[in-house]
Amino acid sequence: ANVKEVVESYLEKIKEWEPYINAFLHIPYEDIEKQVKELESKSPNLPLYGIPIAIKDNILTKNIKTTCASKILENFIPPYDATVVKRLKENGAIIIGKTNLDEFAMGSSCENSAFGPTKNPWDIERVPGGSSGGSAACVSAGEVPVSLGSDTGGSIRLPASFTGVIGLKPTYGLVSRFGLVAFASSLDQIGPFGRTVEDIAITLQIIAGHDPMDSTSSPYEIPNYLEGLGKSVKNWRVGIPKELWYKGVSEEVLKTLENSFDVFKEMGVTIEEISLPSLEYALPVYYIISTSEASSNLARYDGVKYGYRDFTAEDIISMYKQTRGKGFGSEVKRRIILGTYALSAGYYDAYYLKATKVRRLIRMEFEEAFKKVDIIASPTSPVLPFKLGERISDPLQMYLTDIMTIPVNLAGIPAISMPAGFYNNLPVGIQFMSSFFTEDKLLQFAYAYQ
Ligand code: GLN
Repeated sequence: ANVKEVVESYLEKIKEWEPYINAFLHIPYEDIEKQVKELESKSPNLPLYGIPIAIKDNILTKNIKTTCASKILENFIPPYDATVVKRLKENGAIIIGKTNLDEFAMGSSCENSAFGPTKNPWDIERVPGGSSGGSAACVSAGEVPVSLGSDTGGSIRLPASFTGVIGLKPTYGLVSRFGLVAFASSLDQIGPFGRTVEDIAITLQIIAGHDPMDSTSSPYEIPNYLEGLGKSVKNWRVGIPKELWYKGVSEEVLKTLENSFDVFKEMGVTIEEISLPSLEYALPVYYIISTSEASSNLARYDGVKYGYRDFTAEDIISMYKQTRGKGFGSEVKRRIILGTYALSAGYYDAYYLKATKVRRLIRMEFEEAFKKVDIIASPTSPVLPFKLGERISDPLQMYLTDIMTIPVNLAGIPAISMPAGFYNNLPVGIQFMSSFFTEDKLLQFAYAYQ
């Protein structure tokens, strides 16, 4: 089949599934046609030649709306591509659409979108997880083979787990954040969703690597991520942190994950119980650091430079107030208020500074652990995909959904969520973590597991 036919067959799939799951915020039909045309003059040997890829709508796409699922950016059309998007296009990919998310990537269920929630393809009464719910659901439903999401505290891995696909959060600094709308800059990373480890490896190979446009992007030399796939992981040591198993994890999830220990046996790896005691503080530390950074990052939406402006206001101060009051949803406002409080004079030392110190401890504990084990395994989520509306009125319950994934972002290490089985036809994921910049090992392990 030629590129046009491939793209059309995926657009058909999208048409068939969207009424049920609402994974996409926009499909840029005209731009797709242009992209297909442009591909004609390019080499068919490009690694992603003609492959349709969906992009989370907090990643900038030139001439294609990028809304962050927020009213405040409802009509924002970026004048340039994020580095990841530029690299995908250069390697032959077709940007087929922009996917739904919790507003500004704040949430765990995709219910905080200003444009309606995405639904889980396995059960449309349930959430797909968040915040990259759209990017996970579209891969799960077969609307696209691969997509990109962003992960600040679990936003790639949690929805991957809830929808039965693979999702990778790379090491902080491996993938450029240039053109990713900032939520919490010291935690945010872009990463791929896919249905096979190979697809994840191919995509990572293209998006990873130094970018002079992102000062936090690492100069680290990128290995070949495909080389290790298929090689044995015999005698690798797998750490099971007692803090992430059992306590607070539902019976259903634990029962489903029992299978994985049989798989480990077949892989010939050794299992070691380990302890990461500081993880107890990961959730409060995350919500102090991420809201502090968010309150600062979101100050730029003032009705002057970007997107929505309220024209009814009489002076500039009320213009700011009304623009932000009407433009942001309630979860985003909650985060701005929390972050502003944590950073304010008199509280800074008690909250923000203290949190950064505990963050350092968490990172050091992981570093120590990886001297003893190659991989650390945990459930990706403590619970099964829940029903729409079930957790939305209780922010703390919602925040708890990320208890397994947040420590990884605080430490900066890479982690992948792999489908591990089903409970009553609902997907359950397992999370594998590895040391800084060892995505090659992580993918080799995931491939042996899959
Ligand atoms: N659910 C977490 C939050 O709401 C993580 C979100 C994310 O990773 N972007 O902050």
